[in-house]
Amino acid sequence: MGKTKKVWTTGRFGVRYGKRIRQLVIDIERKQKKKHTCPYCNKQTVKRLAKGIWKCKKCGVKFTGKAYYPGE
Ligand SMILES: [Zn+2]
Repeated sequence: MGKTKKVWTTGRFGVRYGKRIRQLVIDIERKQKKKHTCPYCNKQTVKRLAKGIWKCKKCGVKFTGKAYYPGE
């Protein structure tokens, strides 16, 4: 396999958290990194601005969604 560590982005948490929590965070962060589909123009240009706030690059609309990813 590649060079990517198993802990992926959760390495920053060190050993304070258990494996299960890490897996959860990894799942969430994978979803965050993906581009999301805009509910208004249907383009995959939505990025997360902050917790629960999303912005579409294409039509510039800002909307709220779930804290970690727009409602799917
Ligand atoms: Zn849009």
